[in-house]
Amino acid sequence: MLRVHAFCALEPGPRLLVLGGVHGDETCGSMAIERLRAELDGGMHALRRGQLTLVPVANPLARRKGTREGERNLNRNFRPSPAGQPAADYETRITDLLCPLIDRHEVLLDLHSFESDGEAFAMIGPRDNRGALEPFARAREEGRLARQLGTPRVVEGWLDIYAEGLAQRAAAGETLPDDAIDFGRGTNEYMRSRGGYGVTLECGQHRDPDAPEVGYRAILAVLRLLAMIDAPPDEPPAPHPQVLRLAGVVLRHDAQDRFVRDWATFDPVRCGDLIGIRAGGEEVRAACDGHIVFPNDRALAGAEWFYYARASERVLD
Ligand SMILES: [Zn+2]
Repeated sequence: MLRVHAFCALEPGPRLLVLGGVHGDETCGSMAIERLRAELDGGMHALRRGQLTLVPVANPLARRKGTREGERNLNRNFRPSPAGQPAADYETRITDLLCPLIDRHEVLLDLHSFESDGEAFAMIGPRDNRGALEPFARAREEGRLARQLGTPRVVEGWLDIYAEGLAQRAAAGETLPDDAIDFGRGTNEYMRSRGGYGVTLECGQHRDPDAPEVGYRAILAVLRLLAMIDAPPDEPPAPHPQVLRLAGVVLRHDAQDRFVRDWATFDPVRCGDLIGIRAGGEEVRAACDGHIVFPNDRALAGAEWFYYARASERVLD
């Protein structure tokens, strides 16, 4: 059973969907959403216009298990099942419930947390483009929304780098299906494909006690930005976050590949810095000045070990 809370103002306006618990072990978004829901029910906030839909736990099976996934990663291959084809697993059935819900909205805020240590950050999609990978025309609105979330950093370039990771795996001899890139498409990519826009907010480390507050403040900031609730008249604009562009991905080749230290997301590296050592003794060094992102010392052989990001020239409105 999926629990969905809908709040509809009498005045028309933006249609915002907020998701929590897409990954079952990420509880901060669920807590942030439940807090806001209780405050709306209690009359602490009034919805002035538009529609707000809250899904506190998007993956109930994974939440019950206390794990990232129920039967597979809900935030991959996110698209409706072909008509008449029985759903292969639990997450496909959830996706088939969430897709029509996303279709009825135009803005998505998807609340997550992450495994490694590090500060909260937001992830945005591509710049406006008419390319085949992810055509988009609402980058300005999406960037404006990301800026309001209050994180020190915003990261762009996810699907490009996912495609690069696939190319590396194919070059290493792995046989990939023709639609392998679709595996990299999650909730926000689906929202963009439907004409809307969306931001992923990584609220902090999974067990960071501040993460629920980060998520809660972000939802309120989006509601104010979209003029769905009243904003204090003298509220200063949010500071400009640093924008980083994902610039590469390094795969783990062997379970014995190891990092030379406990990297945290956004740890800075200089070109040539030693990052890890392969099972055979080969050194893995930084290809450019930048930052380590999503280091995963539990990655399976053949999977993404870490990403690196460089400063972007993009400035968010
Ligand atoms: Zn997540």
